[in-house]
Amino acid sequence: MIRKLLRKVFTRQAPPAAPEPALIPVDQHGIRREQLSPAARKVCSVLQEHGYKAFVVGGAVRDLLIGHPPKDYDVATSATPEEVRALFRRARIIGRRFKIVHVMSGPETIEVSTFRALQDAESAETDEHGRVLRDNVYGSQAEDATRRDFTVNALYYDPGTETIVDYHHGVADVQQKTLRMIGDPRTRYREDPVRMLRAVRLGAKLGLSIDPAARGPIREMASLLENVPAARLFDEMLKLLLSGYAVKCLRQLREEGLHHGLLPLLDVILEQPMGERFVWLSLENTDERVRQDKPVSPGFLFATLLWHEVLANWETKKRAGEHAQPALFQAMDDVLDAQAGKLAITRRIVGDIKDIWALQPRFDKRSGKMPYRLIEQPRYRAGWDFLRLRAHSGEIPLDVPEWWDRFAHAGHDERDALLRDAPQAEAPAKKRRRRRRKPGGADSAALPAEAS
Ligand code: ATP
Ligand code: MG
Repeated sequence: MIRKLLRKVFTRQAPPAAPEPALIPVDQHGIRREQLSPAARKVCSVLQEHGYKAFVVGGAVRDLLIGHPPKDYDVATSATPEEVRALFRRARIIGRRFKIVHVMSGPETIEVSTFRALQDAESAETDEHGRVLRDNVYGSQAEDATRRDFTVNALYYDPGTETIVDYHHGVADVQQKTLRMIGDPRTRYREDPVRMLRAVRLGAKLGLSIDPAARGPIREMASLLENVPAARLFDEMLKLLLSGYAVKCLRQLREEGLHHGLLPLLDVILEQPMGERFVWLSLENTDERVRQDKPVSPGFLFATLLWHEVLANWETKKRAGEHAQPALFQAMDDVLDAQAGKLAITRRIVGDIKDIWALQPRFDKRSGKMPYRLIEQPRYRAGWDFLRLRAHSGEIPLDVPEWWDRFAHAGHDERDALLRDAPQAEAPAKKRRRRRRKPGGADSAALPAEAS
């Protein structure tokens, strides 16, 4: 610590060599300003009119070059966050340690960040493994480029001139379909191990192959991911699972040795013999929905990924003589707790996951009033989608979700008939409470005692 400080004071780190950027004109890269979102163009032009540098940067430029529609837009500028905020009516500064500005324009939010200096392991505050803890010093545009992870992510597009400023041969790398690390890959992984996951995700999503120099060290450095805060890992896993290329990403993670023993979730996904078909089916489904721009619920996704863990745990508890219902809830908690240490699933998502799981045993009860109550549940649809996936994976018969679908959409008489003909689930071993029936209920007569 003291040595580091002395070195900093007396030998003033030479700033990283600022490479001369290539200025690549539109006829060589083909991105027209009209392809950008209106908000991204507006933010850049307002900043430039006030004398600041401003570029669209990062994923959006890369995606446009590759021919993917950008997910969102980031702008990098020489203006400080306060200066940015002063120029836009709907803008707010977020982040305390490193401030960025969210500028809202119409339905869009543009993330505007001030050029940052490269904070390497020598000059920055790090943990004992070399992970950089703070990355919050403003710098020049060249430094800002050098601190980014991959060359294809360090491209600056100026909507005014339609030129790309390219410090690290990113345009050539896009053309060669290569994901290349800026700087020494080992050092960059040590500074931030999440870059290993980003390499896999971006490679899979964009069809880029990871440059051997960046790919090589991943296997041996994988364990550094253990030191990354659980909330950050969760964000990254969520991005990976919702990228539209989850199946490809996870296969690649397995290939790179990035799953084993690192994230309990990945172990579960990739190494569970029982639920394998279910999990891959669920991931394929998710990928398809993302690519069709349909909404995807993270709660639903995590519920599928962990379901067979819950089932196995639940079975064990039931075999040990516990009652079904409390055993299920205990199993749910056990499985979620096992994840929590490394992967901080947010509380809201945990709530969604539990709702979906807790509905599943209720689909066994196709008699009495229970089915009427179930289809009125706000989470019925998610629960039914989950049920259908279980059926498609072979866990339960296909006619179960079919029955429920018919029941949910049937009229009064047809529902009565469906209830009459429904196969009954085996009665659970525990004692059942008899519930008082409302007189005259639609199904009050001639039905077996309902399970509750
Ligand atoms: P996508 O948005 O498609 O997930 P992205 O590359 O835009 O991909 P973001 O997380 O939005 O990813 O980051 C925006 C930019 O910030 C990146 O393009 C990259 O230049 C830089 N960046 C992000 N994460 C890191 C990191 N861990 N290390 C260095 N630079 C990073
Ligand atoms: Mg992005």
